[in-house]
Amino acid sequence: MLLTVSDVKQYPYCPRIVYYTYLLPLRARPTTYKMQEGKLAHERIEQMEERRSLRAYGLGEGVRQFEVALTSTRLGLTGKLDMIIETASEVVPVDFKNSHGRVGLNHKYQLTAYALLVEEAYGRPVRRGFIYLAPQKRAEEIRITSNMRGWVHKALREIRAMLDAEAKPPPTRVRSRCVDCEFRSLCPEVW
Ligand code: SF4
Repeated sequence: MLLTVSDVKQYPYCPRIVYYTYLLPLRARPTTYKMQEGKLAHERIEQMEERRSLRAYGLGEGVRQFEVALTSTRLGLTGKLDMIIETASEVVPVDFKNSHGRVGLNHKYQLTAYALLVEEAYGRPVRRGFIYLAPQKRAEEIRITSNMRGWVHKALREIRAMLDAEAKPPPTRVRSRCVDCEFRSLCPEVW
C-alpha cells in the first residue's frame, strides 16, 4: 500500500486526519474552498518561480523541474514535489508554502520524505532542501539529517500499523487546528 508524502506531513499535525483519509467509508470528500485556493496559489507561485533567478536558494546555476511525480515501491511512498533544482554537485527538493506562519516540524518532515524519494529517483544523496515561503518571498534551508530521516521511517511504520489495526487515534491536543478542519464534524470531542 502506497502512503503519500502528505500523510507524513499530516501525521504529526493530527494523526486522526490520516486515519479518516483512509478509513472513512468511500464517499466523495468535499473539495473545500481552502483546498481550491491552495491549488491556485501553488500555480501562481510556480509561474513566478519560472521567471526568477535561483538567488533565493544561494545557487548560481541549476535546472528546475516543476510538479515532479515521485514514487518508491521500496518505501511504499508517493508524492508530487513542487520543484527540484539539479546542479552539477547536488539535487535539491523545494516545497512551496503559501502560509504566513513559520515553518513547522511537520513541514520539515514532509520535505525529508520528498528528499528520500528524490535520492532514490536520482541515485544521488540529498543533504538539504528548501521551503519557499511565498508571502515572504524567502526560501528557508532545511538540512536533511539522519534524525529526520529516522522520524519519517518511523512515521510510515506507525501509520501502517494504525491503518492495519483500524485504530482511531486521539484528537490533536492543539485544538486551534480543529477550527477549519474538514473532518471537524466527525470529532465531537473537539467541539
Ligand atoms: S477536527 Fe481536530 S482532531 Fe479531528 S481530525 Fe481535524 S484536527 Fe484532528
